[in-house]
Amino acid sequence: MQPLLIYNTLSHQKELFTPLTPDHVGMYVCGPTVYGDGHLGHARPAITFDVLFRYLTHIGYKVRYVRNITDVGHLEHDADEGEDKIAKKARLEQLEPMEVAQYYTNRYHAAMDRLNVLRPSIEPLASGHIIEQIELVQKIMDAGFAYESNGSVYFDVRKYHEHFKNYGQLSGRVIDEMLSTTRELDGQSEKRDTADFALWKKASPEHIMRWRSPWSVGFPGWHTECTAMGTKYLGELFDIHGGGMDLMFPHHESEIAQKTACCGHGPCKYWMHNNMITINGQKMGKSLGNFITLDEFFTGNHKLLQQAYTPMTIRFFILQAHYRSTVDFSNEALMAAEKGYSRLMQAYKTLQRLQPSKSSSVDVKEYRQKCYDAMNDDLNTPIVISHLFDMAKLINTVNDRKATLTQADIDELKGVMDTFVFEVMGLRDEASSDNTALIDGLMKMILDIRATAKANKDWATSDKIRDALGALGVTVKDGKDGATYEL
Ligand SMILES: [Zn+2]
Repeated sequence: MQPLLIYNTLSHQKELFTPLTPDHVGMYVCGPTVYGDGHLGHARPAITFDVLFRYLTHIGYKVRYVRNITDVGHLEHDADEGEDKIAKKARLEQLEPMEVAQYYTNRYHAAMDRLNVLRPSIEPLASGHIIEQIELVQKIMDAGFAYESNGSVYFDVRKYHEHFKNYGQLSGRVIDEMLSTTRELDGQSEKRDTADFALWKKASPEHIMRWRSPWSVGFPGWHTECTAMGTKYLGELFDIHGGGMDLMFPHHESEIAQKTACCGHGPCKYWMHNNMITINGQKMGKSLGNFITLDEFFTGNHKLLQQAYTPMTIRFFILQAHYRSTVDFSNEALMAAEKGYSRLMQAYKTLQRLQPSKSSSVDVKEYRQKCYDAMNDDLNTPIVISHLFDMAKLINTVNDRKATLTQADIDELKGVMDTFVFEVMGLRDEASSDNTALIDGLMKMILDIRATAKANKDWATSDKIRDALGALGVTVKDGKDGATYEL
């Protein structure tokens, strides 16, 4: 097994990954809240943890990857007050809440498929696990770290922290400051302290997503779903919990508190967080209104976009940065990614038709291990890409007959590219999808008809074909061995 180092947000250092159960990995990643279209900010965690999932599988682990769908209970801005995002959208659009959730889930899946993000092993819905969440809330109450207030249940942060002394450890927040500097509670508040968060909320009459519980007809707090579903599908303690950095507080901090209140320890051994995508230095997000949806990238239909960008350009753009670095969106950066991606695909194609020599003038043995070393160093995809670019350069040099490679070395390069470009980084050759074969077949047929027309001196037909193809951007070149075409 490869010695994989991953950065554990909880310990603030890179640690050697050792799974709780040999050869098996349990991994939980916070999935989307399905009340709107996925944007570039959603693509990053999906791609980051897709690469981790792919790499762990590649190096021989059996991975159970759980990524939830938040279709209930995620409240806007203040995690405790306000209205459920999905219920609000449903009310605005006069739809059944589950209709909204299903619609956006479908669209999320379609966008992820285009980005070549593999589906997780289990994709549980929060709304399908209300009983598990109620049981969790009851457990926390039984342990003495939650209280009921007017039909709602709140987590008692102060009491919890006095006992376990770890609230704020993940996010680096100082809990004493949070407890003492938060605004005075007015007499209306149900909470004992502003730092307390809802485990269960009593539904107001106009709230349309509601379930029966021992405390009220209501709905679970946002943080309970991941604790309940992570435990259900991965056990009391699992290996990796991932998500975007923006989820560290309050979401993941609260997940740790909920789990610790029940069983004395947090949910997982390693916490992993991807950094944000910024736009003019500001986080890209729905609540900030500065986001570009994935479909808008794919069509180019947004005022900030100078052109359309293919799914693989987006994927390559994200992989060009280390997942813990911020990435700033710009058209220039995306165009550079587009070039880089096509350079790699072109090199792969050139590699397939390289002529082998009797001996190699260069050594290619190191590339494979270099790529593994980069991946093992906390998934350093930009370094992997730089090694692949070195390989691309070498491939072009051999193609220009300025260096030589044996068949065995050519095969070695093919193996490295197959593994790291396609299997691990999950890139896909967009130009050579099934359409290419179809276009090629159609072009052969058209050029055949044209050749027959020319043989019959039917110049009108042969010119008509050439001009029509020209109008479509297809150049026909007549050579000694017949006509060829270029798109
Ligand atoms: Zn979560």
